[in-house]
Amino acid sequence: MPKFDVVVMGSINLDVKVLLAKYPEYGHTTTAQTIDLIPGGKGANQAIACAKLGAQTAFIGAVGLDSAGKQMLKNLEDHQIDTQYIQQSWTTGTGTFVVMVDAAGENTMVGMLGANADLDVSKVEATLANVNAPIFLLQMETSQPSVLTALKQAKQAGMFVILDPAPADNYFEEALQYADCVTPNEQETERITGIKVTTVAQAKEAAQIIAAKGVANVIVKLGRAGSVVYRNGVSTVIAPYKVHAVDTVGAGDTFAGALAVEYGRTGDFLAAVEFANKAAALKVSRAGGQAAMPTRKEVLTAKL
Ligand code: ADP
Repeated sequence: MPKFDVVVMGSINLDVKVLLAKYPEYGHTTTAQTIDLIPGGKGANQAIACAKLGAQTAFIGAVGLDSAGKQMLKNLEDHQIDTQYIQQSWTTGTGTFVVMVDAAGENTMVGMLGANADLDVSKVEATLANVNAPIFLLQMETSQPSVLTALKQAKQAGMFVILDPAPADNYFEEALQYADCVTPNEQETERITGIKVTTVAQAKEAAQIIAAKGVANVIVKLGRAGSVVYRNGVSTVIAPYKVHAVDTVGAGDTFAGALAVEYGRTGDFLAAVEFANKAAALKVSRAGGQAAMPTRKEVLTAKL
């Protein structure tokens, strides 16, 4: 049975990043300052975060049989991620998101899930029955049946299941019961608990509510305010590193990947959260998505 440090399941997207001085008015045409094609998708981002941190990583996901799909597979392979468990869909294209950013930094997105929404339950079942890994990391950006099947099977197989509940879809209640650890950001926490999180006290309260839904380890991510961990009946505030925030894209994905890798390596949960906190801060201090995710050596040696 192939052995990995981490199995990641999730979305693979081609991001088309369009930089504009100003959004066009409805029905008008405008030229962009730059248009870049960037590999993305929370699943792929998290797998790359794991691989860059030195973990043997396998990926479960889906792309279309198109040039974007080929590029996305090559990108994962270039990072030494095992792509043999990725489905190649005949029926839909690779997930694609157009991200428009104006001079004020305001983001507007239009996208299609494409092959991500087609990920087959049979592919998930066959893969999880045939791989051996202590840690399973996933989000909710592939088809609902694929997410629920994966959660149940990984849990049954005794893997430690980390669920990044983005985008906190309406079946999160069902999903949460299979997760050993869940890592919502402020928006997802509000969606799950109804609590608008603006203070650490609110994050603690929300984390306890999520834990009561059957999750042993809850991490509420608070962006530049760090995070709150709730486990074994105790809340711990993880103070953020003070960095100059250049680009927050992929902060949460770096955090998830680093948590998965470090917890798998050491079994020390709070130390793994600290490591993830530093890895994510380092990412935030650099421009770019996957390209700005740190290596293990960089995390260990960075003076933040
Ligand atoms: P997401 O990207 O999922 O929305 P967050 O924005 O909450 O997640 O960020 C995830 C983690 O990244 C935070 O918990 C923190 O550890 C780190 N982080 C994010 N933004 C900053 C920042 N400006 N300075 C330092 N650390 C940050």
